Amino acid sequence: MKTILFHGPSGSGKDTQVELLVQKYEFENIGTGEMFRRMYKDADIESIKAYQYWSKGHFVPNELTYSMLNRWVRRFDISKSWAFVSVVRDAGQIPLFDELLKNSGRHLDAVVHFTLSQEKAIERMSLRKICPYCDATYHQIYKPESVSGYCDKCGTKLIQREDDQPEKIKLRLKVYENTIVPIVQEYSKRGILIEIDASPSIEEIHRELIAKLGL
Ligand SMILES: [Zn+2]
Repeated sequence: MKTILFHGPSGSGKDTQVELLVQKYEFENIGTGEMFRRMYKDADIESIKAYQYWSKGHFVPNELTYSMLNRWVRRFDISKSWAFVSVVRDAGQIPLFDELLKNSGRHLDAVVHFTLSQEKAIERMSLRKICPYCDATYHQIYKPESVSGYCDKCGTKLIQREDDQPEKIKLRLKVYENTIVPIVQEYSKRGILIEIDASPSIEEIHRELIAKLGL
C-alpha cells in the first residue's frame, strides 16, 4: 500500500500513467478536478464557493481546496494505494498536504515528477483531444480513441482545447516551471523525489515507473 504524489507538465502523460496504475495495481486516483466537479454536483456548500473560482478558470484558494480535499479523501479505500495527482499547486500547499496525509494516516512514499522538453510538449499537445464531459484525454499517435472523434469512456464528442496552441503551450509551461521548482526542491530535500523522463513511449515510461516505485 503506497501513497504517491504525481506531477508533470501537461503533455507529459501523467494522467495516462496514473490510469495504468489504477487498472493494473488498483490505485485510487485522487485529484482536485474531479473533486470540484463531483462535490459541486452534490451541492456541497464549500464546493459552491469553489465553483466561483474554477468556473472562471481561477485557482481555488488553498485553504478552501484543502478543506474540501480532507473530506474528499474519505471516499477512497484506505486499504489501497493512493495516487494524488497535481494536488500540490504551489509550495504553500505543501504543509496543507502534509497535514492531510497525517489526518488520513498515510505516509508519503514518493513524489514522481515527469519531465518533458518544450518541443516534445508542443508536439504532443497539438495532437491532443479531450472529452469535455469526463476529461479523458486522447492523442492521435500515442493514444487514439477507438471510434474516431468520440470518447471511449462516455461516448461524448471529443474537442481540441483552445489552450493547445503552441504559444499558449509555451506560456503554460513557463508558469508550470516557475511553480514546480520550489515543490520539487522540497521533496528532493526529503529524499523522496523520483524524476522520470516523459519522452519515451507510454509502455516504456510505465515500466520505468513500476521499477522505480518497486511495484
Ligand atoms: Zn468522456
